[in-house]
Amino acid sequence: MQQAVALPAYDLYIGGRWVPPRNKDRFPTYNPFTQQAWAEIAQADADEVAMAIRTARDTFERVWKHKTGLERATLMFKLADLVDASAERIGKLETTDNGKVIRETSGQARYLARVLRFYAGYADKLWGKVIPLDRADVFDYAAMVPLGVIGLITAWNSPMSLLGNKLAACLAAGNCVVVKPSEHASVTTLEFGKLMEQAGFPAGVFNVVTGDARTGAALASATGLDKISFTGSAGAGRAISAAASKNLTPVIMELGGKSPNIIFADANLDKACNGAFAGIFAATGQTCIAGSRLLVQRPIYNEVVTRLTMRAPKIRLGNPLDPNTEMGTVANQPQLDRIMGYINSAKKEGARLMTGGERATGGDLGNGLFIQPTIFADVRNDMKLAQEEIFGPVLAIIPFDTEEDAIAIGNDSRFGLASGIWTQDVNRVHRVAKALHTGLVWVNTYRAVGAQIPFGGVKESGHGRERGQEGMLEFMTTKNVMINFSEEDRDPFAIQT
Ligand code: NAD
Repeated sequence: MQQAVALPAYDLYIGGRWVPPRNKDRFPTYNPFTQQAWAEIAQADADEVAMAIRTARDTFERVWKHKTGLERATLMFKLADLVDASAERIGKLETTDNGKVIRETSGQARYLARVLRFYAGYADKLWGKVIPLDRADVFDYAAMVPLGVIGLITAWNSPMSLLGNKLAACLAAGNCVVVKPSEHASVTTLEFGKLMEQAGFPAGVFNVVTGDARTGAALASATGLDKISFTGSAGAGRAISAAASKNLTPVIMELGGKSPNIIFADANLDKACNGAFAGIFAATGQTCIAGSRLLVQRPIYNEVVTRLTMRAPKIRLGNPLDPNTEMGTVANQPQLDRIMGYINSAKKEGARLMTGGERATGGDLGNGLFIQPTIFADVRNDMKLAQEEIFGPVLAIIPFDTEEDAIAIGNDSRFGLASGIWTQDVNRVHRVAKALHTGLVWVNTYRAVGAQIPFGGVKESGHGRERGQEGMLEFMTTKNVMINFSEEDRDPFAIQT
């Protein structure tokens, strides 16, 4: 008889210690390529969440807030080196957990090192300002200070990258964190604790409480947090905002999108079609910035539809750990069901299915949760297919006539995360970029990011920014100090100006 092999079981990571869940509650995490459970994750309850917050607060007050900017920066540079050195290993773990191709996940790990270095450079340059007032005998300065303890709640599609953007900014600004990763992909966030230790961060700066939405809800409604930074769906975002508002805890929301990627008739079609592909089939379409609505001007409409339809079936699906694979699995079973539900409803809505539309099986795909790269043409913008975030490899192509039409269709969405413009007309670039109501606009490129660039959305895509200087300021506040050095007695009953 075959002996069952115990899966590696992860505990909670609190105060630099691995803490088993008190109620022994654990759940399996699955490899979406094999559909086998490959690790066990702890389900934290509200008391364990509260313990993590207390630990983070204690560390902030006793240790972390007394570190100089240079000390924080030195630790962060060391961490960046460790992340670089472990990028392949982190990538493999993440790919095993969420099925994204290894070239993406290891690339994201290296990019995380870049983000850490970007913010490390800020840590010893948080100068604040001296403010000259209307009186010569008063000295006033506004210091930039960390908020304290931040709750981070992340999604499953890019756990390391999502964590990294938030964490690097928090550390540079001088905060401690409690992280709640997605129940579908928690392993890399937990493993990150080991890198923090190796880099020499004080225990308790970085804490991880794992679990499903109940753990997230416990964190969102907990007292003792100075801010919550959330990445995930608009639905969960609403619940988190509502829970946090009871304690007046401010929140940053990085939510979903239904981004318009607009190709004008004068565009370089090779580049534009490549950009359309990058927009929807990279990361199996499981990216908040997916260019899931492709708007194409009529004169080139048929050609673009034909080009994309011919190329999509040639995308190399396969083992996401194979460096040659171009599109990996969908990350988990509920997401696969959700995407197939949208595809089936699109078929009924009357959009023209050009390619795909089914699960991909056979050959090297084994038991993997694969979906064929799917393209619908002749989509109307009022269809569910064009209005709801599918978060999968499903492209909706919408024809348009004029620039005004493109802007109107592009903005006719409850989301406002990103948009793309493909044209060689420089005046049009400025007009359309100005008119599109999205937090990010790409021109003749798509799905390109930089540590220096403020990232985030408007409307139901959320509020607040990550990366760039803006990303760090989200986790700081000012403390104003006014020093009166006049000898004069002032009227106590009148406001002093
Ligand atoms: P999700 O909202 O289901 O879950 C995200 C996180 O929130 C998970 O950790 C989950 O456990 C937790 N959660 C869920 N319900 C909760 C509740 N009621 N209270 C507290 N916590 C709760 O999202 P997902 O399916 O993991 O991720 C996909 C979504 O994330 C998509 O909408 C995508 O666009 C979005 N996303 C946005 C960005 C961005 O930067 N804007 C980046 C990546 C993903």
